[in-house]
Amino acid sequence: MKKGDIILCAAVCIVAAIFALIFFALKKDGKTVLVKIDNKIVDEYPLDTDRKIVLEHNTAVIENSKVQMIESDCKNQICVNTGKISKRGECIVCLPNKVILEIR
Ligand SMILES: [Zn+2]
Repeated sequence: MKKGDIILCAAVCIVAAIFALIFFALKKDGKTVLVKIDNKIVDEYPLDTDRKIVLEHNTAVIENSKVQMIESDCKNQICVNTGKISKRGECIVCLPNKVILEIR
């Protein structure tokens, strides 16, 4: 192995490690859930407190640091079928009602 090859190999490894770290950081557990309606933030709740979030057309719950839409009057029910989210950046979207729950 030439010296250049070793340096190249090390560089590739470092870059891979950095990408893995970024990926890991993005997948970190969230701290709060943002409630957005019509693209405006209307509320923010901490994930460490279990509660029910009752909105005009939707009902969500925070339970064991996870958020789930349990009820919605929309036709497609995609938001309800999304299931539980808990990682930073994940979100539940209810397009018909313009509701977004986003983990921060
Ligand atoms: Zn929906």
